[in-house]
Amino acid sequence: MKIQKISHKTLAETAAGKLAASLLDGGLAQGSQLPPERELMNQLGISRATLREALKSLEENQLIESRPHVGWFARKIDETNITQAKELAGGDSGSQSRLAMNEPLTGPRRIPVAPEKPIHIPNLQKDRLGTFEFISWWEREKVQQAKVLVIGAGALGNEVIKNLALMGVGNIFIIDFDKIEAANLSRSVLFRESDNNRSKAEVVAARAKSINPEIHVQYLNADVTTGLGLGIIRRMDAIIGCLDNREARLAVNRFCYWMNKPWVDGAIQELLGLMRVFKPGEGACYECTLTEQALRDLSLRYSCQLLARQNVLLGKVPTTPTIASIIGGMQSQEALKLIHNMIVEPGKVVHFNGLTNVMHTTAYVPREDCESHWAYGEITELPARAERTSLQDLLRIARSDLGQQAVIELDQELVTSLECQSC
Ligand SMILES: [Zn+2]
Ligand SMILES: [Zn+2]
Repeated sequence: MKIQKISHKTLAETAAGKLAASLLDGGLAQGSQLPPERELMNQLGISRATLREALKSLEENQLIESRPHVGWFARKIDETNITQAKELAGGDSGSQSRLAMNEPLTGPRRIPVAPEKPIHIPNLQKDRLGTFEFISWWEREKVQQAKVLVIGAGALGNEVIKNLALMGVGNIFIIDFDKIEAANLSRSVLFRESDNNRSKAEVVAARAKSINPEIHVQYLNADVTTGLGLGIIRRMDAIIGCLDNREARLAVNRFCYWMNKPWVDGAIQELLGLMRVFKPGEGACYECTLTEQALRDLSLRYSCQLLARQNVLLGKVPTTPTIASIIGGMQSQEALKLIHNMIVEPGKVVHFNGLTNVMHTTAYVPREDCESHWAYGEITELPARAERTSLQDLLRIARSDLGQQAVIELDQELVTSLECQSC
């Protein structure tokens, strides 16, 4: 028999430990204000005197700071205070210590073995996907017939495309407008030094094909906001966004909503990352997550000064190949689940903090007035191609089918002339 020693911690130490653990696992966001004393006393079940003692100890350990007349704020966890935080948290880290301010973490969900899945002994000498047969829910046909669009072939895109090719996803489509430069080589497994100045989309497409010659890979050298037809989105089973800016995410979000397709977003910076799945009509969409300020900034993006500044910063978000493979791996897995019609959690975000190795999930609140929430009705396909059909032709077809009053509404404005007033 093994008997655990009784802990001699005081109540205040225990309370400080719980708060430190909460700070480590993100239940208490860094930089955010702590709940009012009354609420903390209730949540922790302690008196005001004990709470003050606990807060004092957190302050002495550089974990929180007091702002006069405002209250207590959680400090950033970094190398200067993480040891103290972990020491205080002691055995109190993990889901048990979470305060009620966030929703609880959910544990892994066991997927039931599909009873209809026939027993098949793969030939591991000849069948590259053979070991996947041993996964209870894996369905070869679904994966081989799947169509997945990867938007962006940077650090995340490289990881995602590598994973999709390895998993044997049958049809991969890639879009990116960028060219390869030397600095990409530190975080992009599919690029080589000799690829300098080549198109990212073209190179990753070729490398995916060489990883797995059994799959189909197509690519497009274009900007997703202007160069991607909705017909491509419409034919996909899942879309994976490997983007580095809000404008592109917003465009992808709207395209996917209009075509009623799920998309998986990922974002990385230094050792931090997040991953989220959006499904039209199920929970919040990407636009729902944007603040009014962010939406205003987006409409400002088109001013010349801002564009110039952004070009300087473009692609300069500091990231590591390690966080790219963690988040890219999660995105690829979500896509695999979508292909299998498995349960995903749309409208929620998974945050991963590589400094503390803490992961937590939060649900976004859907917005009633969100402008992305709109979908096309029934779509009629025409035997016409965009490259050979002018707007005039299209209008002629529409009028002959629908009557002379028919008009064509465009999702994006067409520029017929351009003039700058300020520079
Ligand atoms: Zn929305
Ligand atoms: Zn200008």
